[in-house]
Amino acid sequence: MTAPRVRFAPSPTGDLHVGSVRASLFNWLYARRFGGTFILRIEDTDRARSTDESTNVILEGMRWIGMEPDEGPFFQSQRGDLYRARLDELLDARKAYRCYCTKDEVAAKRADAERQKKLYRYDRTCRDRTDAPDLPFVVRAKLPEEGTVVIDDLVKGRVEVRNDQFDDLILARQDGSPVYNFTVVVDDIDMQITHVVRGDDHLNNTPKQIHLYSLLGAPLPAFAHLPMVHGANGKKLSKRDNVVSILQFRDLGYLPETMLTFLVRLGWAHGDQEQFTVEELTQLFDLKDVRPSAAVFDEKKLDWLNGFKLREMTPAALRDRARTFIEAVGIDPETTWVLRAVEALQPRANTLLQLAKGLRMFTDRGPVTYDEKAARKFLKEEQRERLTLLADRLAEIDDFQAPALEAATMAFLEEHEWKMKHVGQPCRVALVGGTVSPSLFDVMEIFGKDVSLARLRAAAAFAPSEE
Ligand code: GLU
Repeated sequence: MTAPRVRFAPSPTGDLHVGSVRASLFNWLYARRFGGTFILRIEDTDRARSTDESTNVILEGMRWIGMEPDEGPFFQSQRGDLYRARLDELLDARKAYRCYCTKDEVAAKRADAERQKKLYRYDRTCRDRTDAPDLPFVVRAKLPEEGTVVIDDLVKGRVEVRNDQFDDLILARQDGSPVYNFTVVVDDIDMQITHVVRGDDHLNNTPKQIHLYSLLGAPLPAFAHLPMVHGANGKKLSKRDNVVSILQFRDLGYLPETMLTFLVRLGWAHGDQEQFTVEELTQLFDLKDVRPSAAVFDEKKLDWLNGFKLREMTPAALRDRARTFIEAVGIDPETTWVLRAVEALQPRANTLLQLAKGLRMFTDRGPVTYDEKAARKFLKEEQRERLTLLADRLAEIDDFQAPALEAATMAFLEEHEWKMKHVGQPCRVALVGGTVSPSLFDVMEIFGKDVSLARLRAAAAFAPSEE
């Protein structure tokens, strides 16, 4: 096998969608696996919709996830000379022609076809025209009128399309600007792309593009059209219902390696294996293992996977990965208690953002404001005695660390014939004001003796007295 040359060819017209990242990833992994070249080409010929901001988002997203191109980025907006040269060649060879039909004429013919309930196709009026009037024109390709075109798709299998469905394809508009189907083929030929791997929303363009390869006298690449990505609701992932921008996932505190290993599983599988390292993927990935049916973006699974990866780290590594998130909630990551608190939060946090937000419960060491509902439910009159007795007992501990605190609390419960449920949640409300926190003993250790005891006693005092 010759080394593959593959490309990711986004149009910079918005966010970098996770579906596009997945397409890019399949290209990138395929190149890595088979010692090939991964090319980035920004398809910015639509000047009205393309923005530099979107280009930057694409570059940033790819850098974040670790998919640096081996060649590029190339910009179609800078390749006009090449497209014009290819267009002239086709015109000279009479494989393309100037079409002078006006928009109004075409619209009238289209309306006519619609009235007759026929599929509209351009009637090729200008195909054999030999004069060259000084009028605006579009350039059209002479496409075959009969026969079929076959796509041997690596994912979809054999797809056959009849040629009589196609118009003589417009290659360049009246203002001279080349259209997507033309630039994409010219570039894929020029960049010697061996495998075109992209979303199956492009499958209907492929037959037209295959004809253009033939007109341009170039061999066909292999095609692989990837299934759409659906949300859990079974509908196409959309901005309205889902988080779809890769940088938004970054900002929510997902790890790039999570996104990478999660996205690759959207349509690709290696037996039943769920977990992969990036290294493993570059040794295992193959287009032939991509499934043709729609893939489902399961947000719960993503959370689980990210949490799993967070829990694999040492607390110090996790703190370092979460550094910018911790700073963003106003905490200096080097503060002494932070590392211990990261360790305490690690079993529950699924994202770096959740982790950082979780740290906030430890910043304030003064009196606690109780969540009203939690206080009503858990700081009842019996807690006056229980929390006071517990505080008295814990006051005897010098080594105020979680294991010692846990042992003392257990002994205390046994003596009084109480269960954890009799003091667990009340203690939590006493310490952090609400019902969600890491393990109580971790929390007490992080707050230290003075703050913890003060809070237990304050909650005891807060609980209503009997009379
Ligand atoms: N620029 C096209 C898009 O963003 C992709 C073209 C291709 O991969 O052939 O949809």
